Amino acid sequence: MQDLGKSMRDLLNRQNLNSDYQQLIANAANDGEVQSFIQTHQTELADDALERNGSKLYEFVSQRDKVRAGAQVFAPGYEPQLVVSDHYIEVTYVPTEATLLAQKRTLLKKRVHAVSMPKMIEQASFSDYDVVGEEQQRSDALRQAMQFVADYSQKPRVFHQGLYFYGNFGVGKTYLLGAIANELATLGYQSTLMHFPSFAVEMKRSIGENSVAKKVDAIKQAPILMIDDIGADSMSSWVRDEVLGVILEYRMQEELPTFFTSNFSMQLLADQHLSINQRGETETVKADRLMQRIRFLSHEVLVAGPNRRPQ
Ligand code: ADP
Ligand code: MG
Repeated sequence: MQDLGKSMRDLLNRQNLNSDYQQLIANAANDGEVQSFIQTHQTELADDALERNGSKLYEFVSQRDKVRAGAQVFAPGYEPQLVVSDHYIEVTYVPTEATLLAQKRTLLKKRVHAVSMPKMIEQASFSDYDVVGEEQQRSDALRQAMQFVADYSQKPRVFHQGLYFYGNFGVGKTYLLGAIANELATLGYQSTLMHFPSFAVEMKRSIGENSVAKKVDAIKQAPILMIDDIGADSMSSWVRDEVLGVILEYRMQEELPTFFTSNFSMQLLADQHLSINQRGETETVKADRLMQRIRFLSHEVLVAGPNRRPQ
């Protein structure tokens, strides 16, 4: 390899520059990356490119080394790159791999709208979804979740039934919703997850502000909706009929994918939860109507396994 550092020094000598500066530029010209850049682009570069662009080479090497060392740089998150511009050498700044990754993450996060959900869903993924032992039913839940993502992403415009995950407290139902939403996000699809008991409380508060309809409209139109923990709190007839009923009716008409999680199976939800109002009276007809919508929109999958919540 030719001694670029030496040719650079000779050139600079003629320019009468300060010798420390000359040395820095000479070192930069001898840098491996710089040399291979010059070699690759030799034919495109003007004859006096090295002579004129010594400071660019120095800038490139010094900034690159700072980025590598994690030192303060003038454009944090960016790294220098040598380019040829109109036969001369220029330095441009491009996002580092870490920056690109962070940008991608921010974009993904924007596709997952979480309403009163635990933060842990941000980290949930199919690949980290460990199946404890050989629990057939737990892996069945994972398999069906992955199947949904595969089917939906193949034909997002046709109706896909969502899943109704039920099972004991702490088995990972909410985690699985998060994993589905994150997987859909990487494929470019938006979803909305909401903790239903908290949403119900917020709706009651919204009566006074007259903003129930606006909030229900925003939720009911979500391209993919995941309703977490249905049945966890007793539900007033008003929430059942005017909030949940309205949301599910719309989604059924529009054939929009909808997921649920619950500690109750569909049967128990119907018998013990939806049909008994807060005054303790039975309202089977209205409960049946709601259950019909839930059954149309989703199918039941048992999530088994140990309680994973930190005790
Ligand atoms: P559920 O909604 O069924 O009550 P969660 O989804 O809240 O259960 O899960 C309980 C805890 O276990 C959470 O802290 C969650 O992060 C963790 N967890 C659940 N499933 C998994 C999994 N497959 N891998 C790792 N951690 C999990
Ligand atoms: Mg949960």
